[in-house]
Amino acid sequence: MAQQHSVIIIGAGPAGLSLACSLAQAGLHATIIEKQPREALADPAYDGREIALTHLSVELMRQLGIWQLIPDDEIGLIKKAQVQDGVSPYSLDFDHRQNNLEALGYLVSNHLIRKAVFAQADSLDNIDILTGITVEAVRTDAQQASVTLSDGPVLQAALAVAADSRFSETRRKMGISASMHDFGRVAIVSRMSHARSNEQTAFECFQYGGTLAILPVSAQLSSFVVTASGKQAQALLALSDDDYRNEIRKRLGSRLGDMTVASERFAYPLVGVHADRFIDQRFALIGDAAVGMHPVTAHGFNLGLRGQNTLTKAIIAAASRGQDIGAPQVLQQYQRQHRLATLPMYYGTNGIVKLFTSESPPAKLLRQAVLRISNNLPPLKWAITRKLTEVGGSALSPLKSTRSIPQPQHDSRP
Ligand SMILES: Cc1cc2nc3c(=O)[nH]c(=O)nc-3n(C[C@H](O)[C@H](O)[C@H](O)COP(=O)(O)OP(=O)(O)OC[C@H]3O[C@@H](n4cnc5c(N)ncnc54)[C@H](O)[C@@H]3O)c2cc1C
Repeated sequence: MAQQHSVIIIGAGPAGLSLACSLAQAGLHATIIEKQPREALADPAYDGREIALTHLSVELMRQLGIWQLIPDDEIGLIKKAQVQDGVSPYSLDFDHRQNNLEALGYLVSNHLIRKAVFAQADSLDNIDILTGITVEAVRTDAQQASVTLSDGPVLQAALAVAADSRFSETRRKMGISASMHDFGRVAIVSRMSHARSNEQTAFECFQYGGTLAILPVSAQLSSFVVTASGKQAQALLALSDDDYRNEIRKRLGSRLGDMTVASERFAYPLVGVHADRFIDQRFALIGDAAVGMHPVTAHGFNLGLRGQNTLTKAIIAAASRGQDIGAPQVLQQYQRQHRLATLPMYYGTNGIVKLFTSESPPAKLLRQAVLRISNNLPPLKWAITRKLTEVGGSALSPLKSTRSIPQPQHDSRP
């Protein structure tokens, strides 16, 4: 016998769980299907990813009751950002004070985001989380979406949503194609402690042959992201902690003083994905299943949060009019709005990666010019900062919160 559910969500990552919380707050029921065991969701292991969050994302997480579950001392503030190219000491600089913001953005470990969003979803009555299970088949028709679980039962709902990663099996099962770009590089992430303060500065250096990014976890602890070709990555992963520290030191110089490796290293192959459609009959893609970004602009989860918010708004509007929440016009509204947000960001990011990793002399000249022009044109710099920090984006109407976050002090458009 098929069981009836309002919305079935496949994948209990941060995007799928956030959507479940949003729907539950609006009084709808969500059932989540996740292949990992419950323990891995309740207490996820550290995975090396430090997630830079925009102001809009923090506001959305606060409204969902997720932000309040992240310990204050686990939230890093990014007050400044610096971008350098090659061996030139010239840098494009962003400073929170230029835009009158408390911080440009906030840094939280991915496993802590996962832990908080799971705890919040698990505490809500109208969310069921089925763990240790996968999806055998997804079928949709004009009346309903049916999801067959790997252990036999068939669930039926007004809408099925896939949030099962950038390599989404459900997207493929639904016959939705995607543009994929394999950058042929691997990001190696790890933490290091250091003698000098990072001054809450995010630092990105597009060195020739590889890039190095440093994100401030706390004053004397930073996340290091090294991108390298597959072969180089294997060699870097095989180094002892001391040799790896020395290798980083060679690339960075004495900027942070003496350094000590403070975590294991994790490797992430860099593959960007943009689904050619975000919807089908009674079906939608969210999170990385819709758009999987290159991490250089730090927008993957930020877009995931925004997407689930856009979908929820369309669903709530239909529900409040007494309409079918899985109707084509509801899903089309989501697709239209979210593609408008993701397409420029996705192709813009890929363009930046292409320009800043090319070894050709014209590209090297062009990027020096880009850094200088961006630095010296205040309106352009202001616009870039607004885009990257997502200050003043539109969220769901505010709900009661128990803990406030630092807010932008005032708008400072020149
Ligand atoms: C190195 C690195 C740095 C990053 N930095 C940032 C940053 O600074 N800022 C930012 O915004 N983003 C960043 N990101 C991106 C961010 O991590 C992702 O966008 C985000 O984690 C995606 O969440 P998701 O829920 O869509 O997918 P995932 O986190 O991939 O979760 C998918 C879930 O679905 C489950 N699943 C998969 N298949 C099935 C199935 N068949 N059945 C059931 N369950 C299934 C998985 O077990 C998993 O729990 C970074 C990514 C990387 C790799």
